[in-house]
Amino acid sequence: MQKVEDGSILDYTKEELQKIIKPAFRAKQLYGWLYQKYVDSYDEMKNLPFALREELKNKYSINPLKIISKEESSDGSIKYLFGLKDGLSMEAVLLPMKKEIKDEVGKIVQSSKYTICISSQVGCKIGCAFCLTAKEGFKKNLSASEIVGQVLLIKKDNNIPSNKRVNIVFMGMGEPLDNLENVVKAVKIFSDPDGLSISPRRQTISTSGLSHQIKKLGEMELGVLLAISLHAVDDELREKLMPINKAYNIASILEAVRNFPIDTRKRVMFEYLVIKGMNEDIKSAKKLVKLLHGIKAKVNLIYFNPYPGSPFKRPSEDDMKKFQSYLRDHGITCTIRESKGLDISAACGQLYEKLRIKS
Ligand code: SAH
Ligand code: SF4
Repeated sequence: MQKVEDGSILDYTKEELQKIIKPAFRAKQLYGWLYQKYVDSYDEMKNLPFALREELKNKYSINPLKIISKEESSDGSIKYLFGLKDGLSMEAVLLPMKKEIKDEVGKIVQSSKYTICISSQVGCKIGCAFCLTAKEGFKKNLSASEIVGQVLLIKKDNNIPSNKRVNIVFMGMGEPLDNLENVVKAVKIFSDPDGLSISPRRQTISTSGLSHQIKKLGEMELGVLLAISLHAVDDELREKLMPINKAYNIASILEAVRNFPIDTRKRVMFEYLVIKGMNEDIKSAKKLVKLLHGIKAKVNLIYFNPYPGSPFKRPSEDDMKKFQSYLRDHGITCTIRESKGLDISAACGQLYEKLRIKS
């Protein structure tokens, strides 16, 4: 018998499968089993001919990931650590945004809503001073199947029906635009109406600001949303926090954002990690308002989440609120990221790191 040689079936878009599997409608059926029924064995794909099932079984594995551990937080978010076939591991988080509410006769008055935060690399090359993922260095780019597999396993593990609305954010480990090819492939697989059917407008790619890659992504016109991890309003501080700023400074990022195609009803999100005594003063807020002038932007303030040995401190709630009020008073939509999953070490890299320290 032939060995599994072509990797995972989750690496292929439907269009690619239609070229390999004949007749082409079989690819659509296969997509249904994989992405709507979350089936993880070819034997269960009853409407596929036996010979095709055997052929697929011999050539392609299904999900390349295994759940190593999961931690549930008191707010309902669940953080997963996934093991890869090569022995490496990375993480993803399920964040319930809205709970299902039923009235007295059992009718659903508010349906549940989920966001899944996924990783794009094991480790990261960017080396931000505040980030635990950076401490591990760079290990590898995730393949499309290792990216897609995160969402599939989380949906299956939580019995989330295929028609339930799910948002995707590329905000786990790694810099998605440093793994553009596989991330774009995953976006296409997520979007397929015969599969997970997650509209690109419900997928957000967060980047530390690789301007040339933002431009490339924009030119692909995928319709995905963009989040920029800005974190500082002047190049001097930003270089200290994020060394990548030496190559791509604030002006170059903002220029790339201005040219990025964005749905008329949507905005580019600017993430601003607030660190006590560093960037939470009103002078910074003032400069931020100036920088964002003319951009359809919204700002998300993030509390710095300390970890053992971290060089920075969490800001006070009062300072966060003052910063937020200043932006709002100057016409900028500004939210403060709820500290979802704080008790399970919410920020990227932190579960991985904790388990590594334990083991
Ligand atoms: N590499 C991409 C996406 C992954 S990081 C990026 O940087 O945008 C996801 C988010 O977690 C980023 O906004 C990052 O700044 C934030 N983050 C990293 N370390 C953190 C910490 N200790 N506390 C709070 N947020 C953190
Ligand atoms: Fe990489 Fe993002 Fe962490 Fe910076 S914040 S080191 S870009 S994962």
